[in-house]
Amino acid sequence: MKPIDLRSDTVTQPTEAMRRAMAYAEVGDDVYGEDPTVNRLQELAAEKVGKEAGLFVPSGTMGNLIALLVHCRRGEEMLVGNRSHIFLSERGGASALGGIHSRQLPNQPDGSLALSDLQAAIRPDDIHDPVTRLICLENTHNECGGVYQSPQYVHQVGELARRYGLSLHLDGARLFNAAVAQGIDARELTAPVDSVTFCLSKGLCAPVGSVLCGSRAFIAEARKVRKMLGGGMRQAGILAAAGIVALETMIDRLAEDHARARWLADGLKQLPGLLVDEPATNMVFFSWDESIPYDERRLIAELRAQGVLAGSVAPRRIRLVTHYGIDDSDIEQTLRAFRAILSR
Ligand SMILES: *Cc1c(COP(=O)(O)O)cnc(C)c1O
Repeated sequence: MKPIDLRSDTVTQPTEAMRRAMAYAEVGDDVYGEDPTVNRLQELAAEKVGKEAGLFVPSGTMGNLIALLVHCRRGEEMLVGNRSHIFLSERGGASALGGIHSRQLPNQPDGSLALSDLQAAIRPDDIHDPVTRLICLENTHNECGGVYQSPQYVHQVGELARRYGLSLHLDGARLFNAAVAQGIDARELTAPVDSVTFCLSKGLCAPVGSVLCGSRAFIAEARKVRKMLGGGMRQAGILAAAGIVALETMIDRLAEDHARARWLADGLKQLPGLLVDEPATNMVFFSWDESIPYDERRLIAELRAQGVLAGSVAPRRIRLVTHYGIDDSDIEQTLRAFRAILSR
């Protein structure tokens, strides 16, 4: 039997509609700007986030890196969360490839960076100091539990950035989860930012790719940096075609993933010993007390033996992610597996 894969929403498979769109996509050489399908995806993506232009990139990591390289010169400083994906999980690319000095501010439990911390971290014009150039936010915030930031908060950070002449980048890998969970248009979350990256390849089910969006001038620079990094692709419309289907048909249904995450969390809460976080979107994080004699590796192995795949994010802490490939019976089956393991 096919395992129930709750490790991540990156395991989603392209839909039938995507495979058909890919097979018949009209393509051209995108390094020349001549792939009509890529161009259409980029326009659609820019419109979805209310920006002038978009750039199709192979991954969210490259989208973020390109944005940082356009915003910051070598030795300039960016303010990032100490639990952000950019800081923790992108191989230090900003530093290794851009010479960008990163300053980590504590992510609050709700995923935000405190306005007072941001303000205090902005450097004075002093001969000793690196130049503060950029603030990076993440929405939804992965490490903090898939939590979302509100439009009001993003607006406040935008005001602060403008007041000090800083740029604001949003790592919106799961931006549409943040919008759907709040019942708002994604543009409400992106209006205050100068640039935003979002992934097509996670809950939206496209096989590959992300889009970086910003002003026309910003994207013109980003296009050059993408080429420098080796991310200029040729007949990429084959991939972009799936991205178009993702943006046109897969956003609203994210609410189903959120509902199943709540169902899963409510079920797990009934089990003695499990300490379950309230899910905000499609991620369920939990820990457990001493009454359960398993470490995370053992519990994951026990789950796998029951046909459920899970991932650990810290000692005695596991993350379960709902997505397009998970239906109601998978949630029931997962809860049965937990009950079987924990009642032994
Ligand atoms: C997945 C993810 C990325 C990077 O995306 P890849 O396509 O895997 O490179 C960036 N930020 C966050 C918050 C993510 O979850």
